This record gives sequence, C-alpha cells and structure tokens, in this order.
Amino acid sequence: PRTSPFLTPGSHSSASSLSILHLRRDQHTPVILQPSSSPSDGYIEGPVTNTRFGSFPHSTLINQPWGSQIRASEVDTGSRGRKGWEGKGKKRKRGSDEIADEVRPETEEEVEGTRKAIKTSATGFVHILSPTPELWTSSLPHRTQVVYTPDYSYILHRLRARPGSVIIEAGAGSGSFTHAAARAVFDGYPALSIQDEGIQTNASAEPALPGKQNGKVYSFEFHEQRCTALQSEIKDHGLEGIVELTHRDVCTEGFTISNSPPIHASAIFLDLPAPWLALKHLTRRIRRKSLDPSANPEPTTPLTPNPVLHPSLPIHICTFSPCIEQVTRTISTLRSHGWLDISMVELSAKKIETRRERVGLQEEGLRGVNASAANVEEAVERLREVEGRTRWFHEMEARKEKEQEQERDGAEAKKDGEPDDMVKGEMEKENDTVNGKEKEKYTSKASRLASIASRLPTRKLYKEGRLVHRPEPELKMHTSYLVFAIFPREWSDEDEKEAERVWGGRE
Ligand code: SAM
Repeated sequence: PRTSPFLTPGSHSSASSLSILHLRRDQHTPVILQPSSSPSDGYIEGPVTNTRFGSFPHSTLINQPWGSQIRASEVDTGSRGRKGWEGKGKKRKRGSDEIADEVRPETEEEVEGTRKAIKTSATGFVHILSPTPELWTSSLPHRTQVVYTPDYSYILHRLRARPGSVIIEAGAGSGSFTHAAARAVFDGYPALSIQDEGIQTNASAEPALPGKQNGKVYSFEFHEQRCTALQSEIKDHGLEGIVELTHRDVCTEGFTISNSPPIHASAIFLDLPAPWLALKHLTRRIRRKSLDPSANPEPTTPLTPNPVLHPSLPIHICTFSPCIEQVTRTISTLRSHGWLDISMVELSAKKIETRRERVGLQEEGLRGVNASAANVEEAVERLREVEGRTRWFHEMEARKEKEQEQERDGAEAKKDGEPDDMVKGEMEKENDTVNGKEKEKYTSKASRLASIASRLPTRKLYKEGRLVHRPEPELKMHTSYLVFAIFPREWSDEDEKEAERVWGGRE
C-alpha cells in the first residue's frame, strides 16, 4: 500500500510526495515534488517552485533530509525553469520590500545593515519540512472556513480519538480536520523500541481498545466540487486507505454506506450549519427502509441496530457552530435523542512568544547582519569582510591625510609609497560617498562590527540578551462553540445479568 508522508514520512523528502517549504514563521508552501522528466519537455532544470525567496528546482528538494536548509537556484528561473540555463550568470533581482520582509528589520539602521548584507548574499533559502496536519492547516488551499489546530487538538482529545478509532466527520470542507483525524486514528506506526535506549515504558499497561479495528475516518461532504478537490488531495497525500470520503447530504441521507461493512464509529464530529438535522441518523436503533418500494415502509419495518455506531462502546460527539442559537437547537435535540453529559466549550488560545532580546547586539549593529545570514559561519564571514573593508578604509584615510599634509608643506606630489591611480580613484569615490555624518556613522558602525567579529568565536550568541515573553495578539482560528455529548453504550437484559454475576456480591 502507498505510504503517506503525513503518517510515515521517513527521514528524507521523496519524489511524487508532499513536502512543505517553510519560508518563514507561519508562512509555508505545500509542494508535491515532481521528478525531472526528459529534457525534451523544455525544462532543463525540471519543475521549479518560485517563492519570494527565490526559485527552487525540485531536483534540489528531492531526497533531502527533512529540516534541511535549501538555497535558491542561482539561475534566473523567472520562466519557471523553462530553459533555465539561458539566464546563467544573472542573479535573481530582489526588491527592497522582499529584503525588508525576509529579515524583518525594525529600525532604520537595521534596514540599512540588512540591505548591505543582502547585497553580498547571492540568494535566499527555505527549509524543507515533512508534512503534518498542523503545517497543512496553515498552508492548505481554503475552500471553506477551516477548523484550526487549537480547536481540533482539543476536539480529538475530547472525542477519545486514538490509534484504531473510527471517526465520522461531516462536512469535510477543506479537509483541515480530516488530516488531523487521520493522523489521530492511524494505527500502523511501527512498534516503539525505546527500551533499546534505556528508557522505561509502561506501554504494555495500555489497555487494548475493545472491538479494535483499523483506524478510519468516514468523511461526508455534499458540495460536489469541494468533495472532488478533497478526494484528489486525499489520494495525493496517500491517505486513501484511512479516509473514506462520500459525496452526501448527511441531514437527509444519514451516514450508512451501502454495500460496505458497518461503520461502527465511536466518535463523531459535525461541522455543519444545522447539525441537529443529522442527529436523527445517529440513534442506537434505526428503521431501515424496505428494499421493496411497494412495501409499506415505516412504522411496520422493525428497529435494527444502527450500523453507523459502535455497538459496544459509548459514542462521543462534538458539534462546531459559530452561533449560540445553533448551540441551543443542537443541545435540545441531543437531549431528546438520549445523549448525556452535554457540555459546551469555547476555546480562546493564545500563543506566547518567548525569545531573547539581544539588546547589546542590536546596539552594536550586529542584528541586521546576523538576521539576514543563513548561519553563524556566514555571519562571521560577513563580519570579517566588513572588518577588512574597515581596515582598508582607515589605511586610505591615513594616506589621504599624509598627502594633504605634504601638499600643504609644498612638498613634491609624487613620492614613494603614494597610492597609485587606481587606489586614488577608490579613495576619491570613498570620499564622495562617505562624507559628513554618513562617514561618521559608517566608520563607527564598521569599527563596532570589526570589534564584534574579533570576539565572536568566544561568544555564545544564544545566551545573550534578556529573556522576554509576551502573548501574541492575533491567533488564526475560527472561533466557534464546541458542544460535546456522550451516547452511552446499549445496556441489554443480558448485560444486566452479567453485571450482577460479576459485580453483584461486591461492595
Ligand atoms: N471542518 C472542515 C475543515 O476543517 O476544513 C470545514 C467544514 S466547512 C465549515 C462546512 C462544510 O459542510 C462545507 O463544505 C459544506 O459544503 C458542508 N456541508 C454543509 N451541510 C452539509 C450536509 N448536510 N451534508 C454534508 N456536508 C454539508
């Protein structure tokens, strides 16, 4: 069977499989990596993904360890890689907006430092990540409102979703919840062998799930185009064995899938405008329609166990509604159908940002340089470069002063040790651009950077600065009311007798 990069991603990215390009925090691009086809298709580099941080031929993204930093192509791939080498030698042009966005400089000085640093850096970079439901939620193509990570992690926990569970979901919408549910119920992970690493586990103490079957998500969506789009994503993401999507109006037609084994779900999630209309299909016993259209249907057809619900497990349900009126209608219908333990929750999640503020470094002008560098080595290299330029600048200044002194003293113009014409030209250029305040700023900043560069190898940058934390004001989530309820397992006379036999004589 095909494996899913969401469930068993392995250690490296692979061809024909989904990867997530991490551009920067909260900005991700999902890409199905295409292997290069024959050069006759006009693509010399093969397929290319263009981002604001450069162009990335898929050949540079395939078979990379997850988490790797990938440098943008140095080739101008403006024509999406078509005959890419025609642009050889041209560096991709980067507008000042892009520079500002990439490193998020905050002060004028940082912007200036960043510009200088970027000029010396050839291209941008991204990190390649293995797909997770969280990354997919933040990068998926939105066809509807979606359920965000803070909500679905709480919902799946309250629904008791775990490997081997069977979940019903309606409507599927953009598939954000679907992916999270698929991961939660997947039971094909290889057995853990952490004991090999000397860690004690109590894995054997975990009770087996009664009536355990292969974990599955039965998903329903009545909008045809959404259903088709999600079906192809499920296929592309290797989730076909675990997610079964049906094109259906669940309020009128219910959840039974004909010509297939009973669903036997123990968890239900309804993200529908009128979830109360679907509840009549989720009772313990149902009256099946007669297959004979001439036969009198209800109420003469007998009640039979509902194949949608697990026969011997309590059923956990969650409905997700933005309005309190929807909540009250859902709750009164749940009550009338015998659901118990009904409660409503509204989540208010907050991200707390924790970081060190490099107060000292910011003052010294390092921050702009370091933020734009791909790694510490690059930062050090740039600082050394700055240091070299500083030394050259001071030498030029010293020579110039000497020359002026000689001129003042009426000495001969040409002497040994005088700069040749080329150096003189450079001096004049430097003089033109670096004068007055600008000169002062450049000199002091450059010497500060040079002094940092000399100290850098012995300093632990990550330990510098004050540790601060603050809640972030905005969190991307669609706030809704979550209604939870439980349908207890059926309790027959035989169950009662068995309970009496087992528990009767005890306190
Ligand atoms: N939970 C989804 C996600 O995380 O991406 C988003 C669901 S979206 C808000 C609601 C979906 O329910 C829509 O796509 C809509 O077409 C579908 N829907 C509405 N009524 C339905 C019904 N009676 N049966 C099946 N699907 C329905």
